[in-house]
Amino acid sequence: MGRIHSIDTFSTVDGPGIRTVIFLQGCPLRCQYCHNPDTWSAASKAAHDYTANDLMKIIRRSIPYFQASGGGVTISGGEPLLQAEFVKELFTACQAEQISTAVDTSLYVTTTRLQEVLPVTDLFLADIKHMDSEKSLAITGLGNQMNIENLRYINDHQTRIWIRYVIAAGLSDDPEDVTALAYFVKTLDSVERIDLLPYHALGAHKWDLLGLDYKLHEIQPPSAQQMNDLAQIVRSITDKPVYWQ
Ligand code: SF4
Repeated sequence: MGRIHSIDTFSTVDGPGIRTVIFLQGCPLRCQYCHNPDTWSAASKAAHDYTANDLMKIIRRSIPYFQASGGGVTISGGEPLLQAEFVKELFTACQAEQISTAVDTSLYVTTTRLQEVLPVTDLFLADIKHMDSEKSLAITGLGNQMNIENLRYINDHQTRIWIRYVIAAGLSDDPEDVTALAYFVKTLDSVERIDLLPYHALGAHKWDLLGLDYKLHEIQPPSAQQMNDLAQIVRSITDKPVYWQ
């Protein structure tokens, strides 16, 4: 049984093609810019329990869209690898029906959890919060050691990776921050692309509704010029495609 926050049956921004995205409940991080703080608590009464069979019935409805677009299923969150056994069960069922599988994850989990899902995962949409562990701690509440180790582990097992990195003023937007990111990613042969994600405040109202203290009200999203400049830094260091949206 999986604890599910929500399901989006027609996403075009969570991996290749048209995808069914299943958001799992629970996350060990407390990112300052999180736009889904309602996924944090594993015990949230707003979440619902589904079996893998329940979800496969929903997923199968979109098979024609997957086939036409090169899409599939993405498991997101929250942090989906907190429910690694369930993800493994669901992805095993997907792959048995030739449905492509992706995990959108922070990788701030033990490698044991990652090992559960790796054999049945076609693509990792993997966050890097910050290359500096102290700055990672400031952004998320945890240092980045597990994140970096797990990225190397996936890379060593030749599984496809798309990197995601949020650009937020004063937290992760220094050119030196992005330079360190690029030099690290350059060492990972399995990384296919890098997505730089401009900070936005669209989830701030959820913090207010949950009675949480949103500390970034004063921060402005990066300009297009800044995003272009940072993307250019990454491109100058690694030959991997860099996108921002
Ligand atoms: S890892 Fe994702 S869901 Fe968890 S706190 Fe950070 S942004 Fe939010």
